[in-house]
Amino acid sequence: MSLPWENPEQRRALQAQLIAWQERHGRHDLPWQQPATPYRVWISEVMLQQTRVETVIPYFQRFMARYPDIPALASAELDDVLALWAGLGYYARARNLHAAARAVTAEHGGELPTTLAALQALPGIGPSTAGAIRSLGHGLPAPILEGNVKRILARLAAIPEWPGRSPVARRLWTIAEALVPEQHCRAFNQGLMDLGALVCTPRAPACSDCPLASACAARATGAPEAYPGARPSRQRPQRQVRLLLIEDGGGLLLEQRPPTGIWGGLWSLPECATEDDPVARARALGAVCEPAGELAPRLHAFTHFELHMQPSRLRRVGAPPEAREPAAGLRWFRPDREALPGLPAPIRRILTEAGYPTE
Ligand code: SF4
Repeated sequence: MSLPWENPEQRRALQAQLIAWQERHGRHDLPWQQPATPYRVWISEVMLQQTRVETVIPYFQRFMARYPDIPALASAELDDVLALWAGLGYYARARNLHAAARAVTAEHGGELPTTLAALQALPGIGPSTAGAIRSLGHGLPAPILEGNVKRILARLAAIPEWPGRSPVARRLWTIAEALVPEQHCRAFNQGLMDLGALVCTPRAPACSDCPLASACAARATGAPEAYPGARPSRQRPQRQVRLLLIEDGGGLLLEQRPPTGIWGGLWSLPECATEDDPVARARALGAVCEPAGELAPRLHAFTHFELHMQPSRLRRVGAPPEAREPAAGLRWFRPDREALPGLPAPIRRILTEAGYPTE
């Protein structure tokens, strides 16, 4: 069957069908659509990477209440942005948002640029996010290729391979670029995303409700859910770490993580290798301690590895005279008297289990 984007007449018909469907059946009340400014679209797109809409909504609303525009975000402390982000994961996203807001203020007068090249020059903005900002935010034509759109395009063309492979991704980009309309691109791209969320779902797509059904090669095969192919399975590397709950009366010692890497810039529990002596590690941090029991081990799955965490409690019994104050990057907190800073969600859960107020 001929592919719809290869024939201008068919392509225009397909674009018009999707735009009409979006206006009638698509989503119009998502918080970032009210109003859909470039800034709000940008923040929502970044939050939605790897994260579900229902999870994102309360974070988005809190973020907008605190940082309603680019100048507010640019002038914020990174620690405060990370604290607001805590629980959403993938913290590099928050660091990049903050850095990009400062770059937009310095280089673009506080307004997100309109060209794809200038948008992609900003930290953390890839081709699809740039396309979303330009189309959904500025109302100008640009392709997008987020997860839902990849699935739809792979089905339209009956591409059987996993879209994570570079050649497949390149092919999907070519299709996305060929399909994008000059007019009404905002409704078209929103229609693609809505169709992926509401109709062309990963399992059991509702093809009978789909405005693209007549042009869909995967539907013609009778098994549209088989497209695109799944990610090849692989065993994620396993890592182990011991987390130290170093306690002193109501005090708890936390350590700020390096700015890059997992949980970058967030406060967390000090840690050591599982085979290391936790008492010796605590002493090296300036806290003379005795063991005070183990908490249940926990597992957290990151994209590229799984982290096995063994939390160990340690009671402080004194401090060596040379280390009464914690070193740089360490701080005693009083969770009974002060709000804890931004913590990774798995660490917050461990502290809740240990009896600390973490909300
Ligand atoms: S016809 Fe079915 S498989 Fe094809 S795009 Fe529509 S919902 Fe998806």
